[in-house]
Amino acid sequence: MIVSPGATIGIIGGGQLGRMLSVAAAQLGYRCHVFDPHESPCAADVAASHTRADYTDVEALRRFGAGVDIATYEFENLPAGALDVLAEKLRPGTRSLAVAQDRAEEKTFIEACGVTVAPWRQVDSLEDLRAATDALGFPIVLKTRRFGYDGKGQAWARSAADIEPAWEAIKGKPAVAEAAIDFAAEFSVIVARWQDGRQTFWDSPENAHRDGILHRSTVPCGEACAHHIGQARASALRIAEALEHVGVLTVEFFAAASGPIVNEIAPRVHNSGHWTIEGAVTSQFEQHIRAICGLPPGATALVGGGASMENLIGRDIERWPDLVAEPGAHVHIYGKGEARPGRKMGHVTRVESR
Ligand code: ADP
Ligand code: MG
Repeated sequence: MIVSPGATIGIIGGGQLGRMLSVAAAQLGYRCHVFDPHESPCAADVAASHTRADYTDVEALRRFGAGVDIATYEFENLPAGALDVLAEKLRPGTRSLAVAQDRAEEKTFIEACGVTVAPWRQVDSLEDLRAATDALGFPIVLKTRRFGYDGKGQAWARSAADIEPAWEAIKGKPAVAEAAIDFAAEFSVIVARWQDGRQTFWDSPENAHRDGILHRSTVPCGEACAHHIGQARASALRIAEALEHVGVLTVEFFAAASGPIVNEIAPRVHNSGHWTIEGAVTSQFEQHIRAICGLPPGATALVGGGASMENLIGRDIERWPDLVAEPGAHVHIYGKGEARPGRKMGHVTRVESR
């Protein structure tokens, strides 16, 4: 099925990813309708329309679905059940959502694809957590199964004394415990997949985090990651195919001595792919729109010798006057208002010439 320019694309979630998807869709002649519970989500500033309703409001979702030609999501913490009312029009489908929004489901699914994740245990009680540390050793990282992002909903335990504080830190929510991976670097594989199985990759960025939040993504990646890319792409493709995923899928990896280890997946465009807006022939946002609408794939090669994307987190955004004065720096400001600590306010990409 081809959804032609002129059609309306529904985007569930109105954050910066929805904003950049809307801009890319508009360039191809689509209109976007954003569904988000907030009064003034930053994607709504650049979209044709906005429905303000809760993600659990099935009636509002049904009306939204009736008014769009196709729907996608920029955010995975959505009630999969409620989105069933959109099933016919939703790309990627609810399967990708259900797997990616629950860390235990996600790890089980990835392992069933024959792909390696960090050794892990499901944790539903303090006793489970003690048993997990007996099995996995220290350090471990405890992560809530649902609703975690940017390092939120996580606590580390480095010794037995940390077990109870870690359990309290995540408020005793259903969780997974993971062994700490000793990695040389982190990278991601970003793949776009079409309904008929066509797929494209971008160069894999090497990702540096600060306080659990992505700080910088750089392409090409360094040698510590480069020799893992072939195997990592094959793994990402197995996951995308098993999910029958349509659109962009991102797989985060640790570059470990034993080989690439999957950290987590995101059934969507990803912060580590923002550099593709100026650094690649076709951006992840445009490619996602092309894939869900059934248009042909765009080329994904680097346009220069490389690119580097730096996130502007919280008060980093106050640097904007210097950044906009820097020749060649591509500044993106999301228009989100208050610069709370840890909040992603914008990013800047620098593309190297060949
Ligand atoms: P989020 O959903 O918040 O992105 P992640 O699971 O990706 O959560 O964790 C954020 C970061 O924390 C990772 O990118 C990595 O740097 C670090 N981290 C997470 N899990 C592990 C682990 N098992 N071993 C070592 N570092 C980890
Ligand atoms: Mg992550």
